[in-house]
Amino acid sequence: MLIREMPYGMTTRNGVFAGGDVANHPATVVNAMQQAKKVVEGIVRYVDAIKLLEAIN
Ligand SMILES: Cc1cc2nc3c(=O)[nH]c(=O)nc-3n(C[C@H](O)[C@H](O)[C@H](O)COP(=O)(O)OP(=O)(O)OC[C@H]3O[C@@H](n4cnc5c(N)ncnc54)[C@H](O)[C@@H]3O)c2cc1C
Repeated sequence: MLIREMPYGMTTRNGVFAGGDVANHPATVVNAMQQAKKVVEGIVRYVDAIKLLEAIN
């Protein structure tokens, strides 16, 4: 599954995020956990950006 670098983890469908084995080739638990942290940061950035746009519109 293709995911974006910015915001990290977003799939080709806006607002839908993925990480771990489904986003890469099957790897390791450590890899999935590391990526999950980055995906959470990507989700926070995405939600914050939407809130900011709503606040100024
Ligand atoms: C046999 C085997 C041995 C392994 N041994 C090791 C090891 O020794 N050390 C190591 O680091 N890694 C090991 N791995 C790899 C490791 O298990 C994975 O890299 C890791 O579990 C990936 O985590 P994940 O959260 O991305 O995916 P997963 O752990 O696969 O979690 C995905 C979850 O999504 C759920 N799901 C799927 N479809 C849906 C749906 N439609 N709706 C809702 N839920 C859904 C699944 O039930 C599952 O709970 C092994 C893998 C296998 C198959």
